Order: sequence, then structure tokens, then C-alpha cells
Amino acid sequence: MTETTIFHRILDGEIPADKVYEDEEVLIFKDIHPKAPTHLLLISKQECIPSIADLTEETKDIAGMLIYKAKEFAEREGIDGYQLKFHVGKSGGQEVFYLHLHFLSQQALRDE
Ligand code: AMP
Repeated sequence: MTETTIFHRILDGEIPADKVYEDEEVLIFKDIHPKAPTHLLLISKQECIPSIADLTEETKDIAGMLIYKAKEFAEREGIDGYQLKFHVGKSGGQEVFYLHLHFLSQQALRDE
């Protein structure tokens, strides 16, 4: 069974997050400890798996969906340079075991 993480609690509305975008597939919110002027996290609202290491033939599309949502978000924001990162496993620096994509940019969001 998948362990309940802080990101489950954000999705369930139990704890607040600084949300910047949401649709039926994805939630994008600000990282609480930003490592760049823009540091966002993208999570799937539909499928929860702990990590990239847990992807299967059935769930592999989540990774592409998160990357594509990041690309669309960047376009809407007029951000043309950014980094996308998955931390995989404890030794890969992963702390929260709810699959998420980091979006980092030196460029600020439009409203900041
Ligand atoms: P990772 O190392 O890939 O597991 O990254 C987890 C990220 O989640 C870290 O960059 C944390 O700063 C971030 N984080 C942890 N708790 C929260 C929270 N409540 N709201 C937003 N970001 C968080």
C-alpha cells in the first residue's frame, strides 16, 4: 500500500499550498524551500505512485504528462529557460514519496 505523504494531504486540502495552476490531471504549487526564483512542483491528481522507480507499463504515461504540463505552464508564463528534475529514491535525494516533477527557473512568474 502507498504511504500517505504530505502531497496527498495537499491534494486533499488538509494542508495549504501555494497553488499556481490546477486542472483535472495536474496540480502545480510552489516548493516551500525554493532553490531558484521559480521553484514549482507538479503532481498528478489521478495516479499516485511513489517514485519514477515504481513506474510500470500501465503508469508510465504519468511522467510524460507531468513533463508536458510543465512545458505548457512555461509557455503560458513566458518562461523560456528552466530545469525539470525527478529525484529518484532516498539516495537520489528524494524526500517525498509521491511522484513529483521539480520545475526550476531563474525567471520569475508573471505576477511576481
Ligand atoms: P524531493 O527531494 O524530490 O522529494 O522534493 C520534495 C520537495 O518538496 C522539497 O523540495 C521540499 O522543499 C518540498 N516540500 C516539502 N513539503 C512541502 C510543502 N508542504 N509544500 C511545498 N513544498 C514542500
